[in-house]
Amino acid sequence: MSQYQAVKGARDIFPEEAVQWKYVEAIVHTLASLYGFSEIRTPVFEYTELFQRGIGATTDIVGKEMFSFLPDPSGRSITLRPEMTAGVMRAVLQKNLLSQAPVHKLYYISELFRKERPQAGRQRQFSQFGAELLGVSSPAAVAEVITLMMQVFESLGLQGLKLRINSLGDTDDRVRYREALKEYFAPFDDILDEASKERLQKNPLRILDSKNPAVQEIVVGAPRLYDYLKAASRDDFEKVLFYLSERGIAFEIDHRLVRGLDYYCHTAFEVTSSELGAQDAIGGGGRYDSLARELGNSSDVPASGFAVGMERLLMTMEKQGLFASLIPAAPLVYVVVQQQELGDHGLQIAYRLRKEGISAEIDLAARSMKAQMREANRMRASYALFIGSTEYAAGLYSLKNLGTSEQRVLSLEAVLEILHEPASREVVKL
Ligand code: AMP
Repeated sequence: MSQYQAVKGARDIFPEEAVQWKYVEAIVHTLASLYGFSEIRTPVFEYTELFQRGIGATTDIVGKEMFSFLPDPSGRSITLRPEMTAGVMRAVLQKNLLSQAPVHKLYYISELFRKERPQAGRQRQFSQFGAELLGVSSPAAVAEVITLMMQVFESLGLQGLKLRINSLGDTDDRVRYREALKEYFAPFDDILDEASKERLQKNPLRILDSKNPAVQEIVVGAPRLYDYLKAASRDDFEKVLFYLSERGIAFEIDHRLVRGLDYYCHTAFEVTSSELGAQDAIGGGGRYDSLARELGNSSDVPASGFAVGMERLLMTMEKQGLFASLIPAAPLVYVVVQQQELGDHGLQIAYRLRKEGISAEIDLAARSMKAQMREANRMRASYALFIGSTEYAAGLYSLKNLGTSEQRVLSLEAVLEILHEPASREVVKL
């Protein structure tokens, strides 16, 4: 055993679990392209300022959760990406994509890094899939990203997820609301904890997010953002809700949902799973028109998106038994050599099969025939292809269907024909 362990907050994904990841990823890829989103891959690290500007200096992520370092003593600080949106927007602006086409629909499945205290559902390296719709800010666009996210959940068979939604209005709405919040919280100075007091000064909306029970109690009576929205902001929100209702997507309006990042405006949403315990958020997102300007663009770029935590998604699926029918891929055929002298010929046959696109396995350690058969069964191969000296001399092979035990002596051409038949791939050994 090695004296080394994986770094705390990071984990290994072994083949049995990798199958589950691939399954989820395949559905994400399929549905994203069904909705017209194309994949983007950005670097794992970015200049630290990108996140400071993009996510906001008062957020937990920027305040205390970034893995930042200097690549060399004179260099600029760089940071392992703690979220994808800022990097995607940076990439789009850098390439000037919006001058080529007005709307860009991008999605990703990527690893992220946050220096949080590791616990169930919270890691220091984790993955998200998400989508960003850039260049249009209509309620239809926001509804489209929410719908894509919800369709992924539905296709995976997830049950009991709760979509909560709110409107953060535009900048004016929030300026007025912030003042109202400051006024409301001012008399509760003795109840507010240090973090809340700091938020009251810098970003009072985030007090609504507080997990402190005493603070939560006074939050209940706080003014509602909805009451500070101008008519146009309300109409925008109502239209998003209309689209969701039309599509049969259930939601709950949560007047206290503000989300942790500074760049959101208008619609914000979050999905939670009752299966997850304390860290119950599976995903969330919203509209973030001002991010581009924060990053130095001359104007806002209307934008909306979502991000879903892959680990929490997989945990919920596991708890709901949605992986029960998933089994790691098995080889179609296991090549078994009856005498050791035929080992090299066996290797050549396995090579031929693989070149033909047939998944084939073979023992590489010159073990006994019994051991080879044991492996074939352990791997759940559908067929065994026996190579024996008599048959070999005649250019023949014995192909055994390990499901039915039916065995036939055939030429290699006939073997290839059978193994190419679509039905042969469906033979499952129970
Ligand atoms: P956020 O960008 O913080 O809104 O995160 C979006 C989703 O990513 C959350 O709802 C979680 O499912 C997931 N997530 C965020 N932080 C972590 C973490 N440290 N470990 C695992 N999943 C996370």
